[in-house]
Amino acid sequence: TCGICVEKCPFDAIEIINLPQELEDDPVHRYGENAFSLYGLPAPQEGQVTGILGPNGIGKTTAVRILAGELEPNLGRYDESPGWEEVLDAYRGTELQDYIADVRDGDVTVSRKPQYVDQIPNQFDGNTRELLERTDERGALDSLVERLSIGPVMDQSIDDLSGGELQRVAIAATLARDTDFYFLDEVTPYLDIGQRVTAARLIRELAEEEGKSVLVVEHDLAILDLLCDTLHVAYGEPGAYGVITTPKSVRNGINEYLSGYLENENMRIRPSQIEFEEHAPRTATHRDTLVEYPDMTKSYGDGEFELAVEGGEIMEGEVLGIVGPNGIGKSTFAQLLTGDLEPTTGETDLDLDISYKPQYVTIDQHMRVDVFLSSITDQFGSSHWNTEIAQPLQLERIMEQNLSDLSGGERQRVAIAACLSDTADLYLLDEPSAHLDVEQRVQATSAIRRHAEMQDATVLVIDHDTYVIDLLADRLMVFDGEPAVEGRAGTPQPMREGMNDFLENLEITFRRDKRTSRPRINKPDSQLDREQKREGEYYYSV
Ligand code: ADP
Ligand code: ADP
Repeated sequence: TCGICVEKCPFDAIEIINLPQELEDDPVHRYGENAFSLYGLPAPQEGQVTGILGPNGIGKTTAVRILAGELEPNLGRYDESPGWEEVLDAYRGTELQDYIADVRDGDVTVSRKPQYVDQIPNQFDGNTRELLERTDERGALDSLVERLSIGPVMDQSIDDLSGGELQRVAIAATLARDTDFYFLDEVTPYLDIGQRVTAARLIRELAEEEGKSVLVVEHDLAILDLLCDTLHVAYGEPGAYGVITTPKSVRNGINEYLSGYLENENMRIRPSQIEFEEHAPRTATHRDTLVEYPDMTKSYGDGEFELAVEGGEIMEGEVLGIVGPNGIGKSTFAQLLTGDLEPTTGETDLDLDISYKPQYVTIDQHMRVDVFLSSITDQFGSSHWNTEIAQPLQLERIMEQNLSDLSGGERQRVAIAACLSDTADLYLLDEPSAHLDVEQRVQATSAIRRHAEMQDATVLVIDHDTYVIDLLADRLMVFDGEPAVEGRAGTPQPMREGMNDFLENLEITFRRDKRTSRPRINKPDSQLDREQKREGEYYYSV
């Protein structure tokens, strides 16, 4: 038993290495007997962006519902609600005392961005303008629309927006309101790096210039690092209990989270550390060519968008990273390879069998996960498949669920498993990191790499999380141009050249954290930023 329950654990909780001090106290909230319990609360601060870093299912939404005054915490006494007075007593003398007093008095207003923006069209009928106009409480909407490049879709129906457009509209709608407290549950899914950095700047300005309290949950570590003033780590056993630590500095919070050991708490949260080795960029070893494709172009309609592809080759058994802004032709290129699209000029006769995971995962039939996956591969359930696919993608717990009941992150993991389980010449994964938490990203990344190494499979991965790309790719293909107008697809390059090309377009440089070698975005125009730009080294320094 883990110490919460005396009898056999009803959650099948895996071993807990040592019992956190917090669990000896009463929780902030418990949903019921043997139900999820939350320990600790994040402390929003005026004029600051506070982050929460941790896995999904650990109680972040529960904490926010409490801070928003929607859920009256029961201090663990689920059969008799103690009431706000007693809750306030419990927080007297802590950073949260004033905040909780305001919540008790009904004085806290909250603006909130949901995690799964894909669900917004089910809740709203109308176009972008209609959705945004009702949120314009600070007079900031026009500027948000401009900086988030929402202008072109203002008169489009919400039903017709892409995931990236929905994400930007949802961010604008949240930030345009005039409330005391802002909560954003994941800002980066479906956004490219330029858009991620813009969103981070807008959120920071809201705190710094308007003095607002902002709380964010985010799994792209480079962006989390850029966004926050302080950070709470969340840990525990998803679905069983969650602990939210007292605030740490952002750098220490991320480093301790990765190391698996929380220093102040004297608490090991994971048996091993997540390493960001400062490896030299991978250099391609000699491999055979899988395909060679020629120079080609593809235009849509009356030349509304044109993609120019510089010819190149894809090597057998490599992981080729694909980076570039949204709307620049990456999916178009993928469809030229599969033969689903004919090029406007140039010949392709590649005849490749491609297993494709699209960016927006739409598997939501009424079918169980195990039935779905066993229909794709006869390897389903073999010990090799279990070790290489099911375990790293954490599928065991969701095998008996229906696809239509899965959360966005669960659906993503099933879709990655389905893609890798198919037999194909080429595996193409579009944004596998979306909605995965940090550990799931690391594990999914290693499953994809191992698939390439062990099956000699060739993998193309489009992703906007620089850590994921760095951990995964052997070579890089960089797209640039003007989104929705024209795109250029460069030939595959070695990692160093590719990262330099890509980040030079964005004018972003990375340094390495001294302790963990984790890449961090440099402050624009800082000494390091200027030096690295002068030397043309945007990412790798070894
Ligand atoms: P996160 O936001 O970190 O993903 P949540 O706060 O949404 O986590 O949920 C934490 C746990 O609490 C989950 O296991 C969830 O199923 C459970 N939970 C959430 N709401 C309720 C509720 N009203 N009754 C019982 N359990 C709940
Ligand atoms: P990315 O994958 O880099 O986001 P895409 O290849 O999906 O980019 O799209 C590039 C541009 O082409 C976008 O402006 C998109 O709206 C446009 N586009 C994509 N498919 C079509 C189509 N079938 N007809 C017309 N325009 C399209």
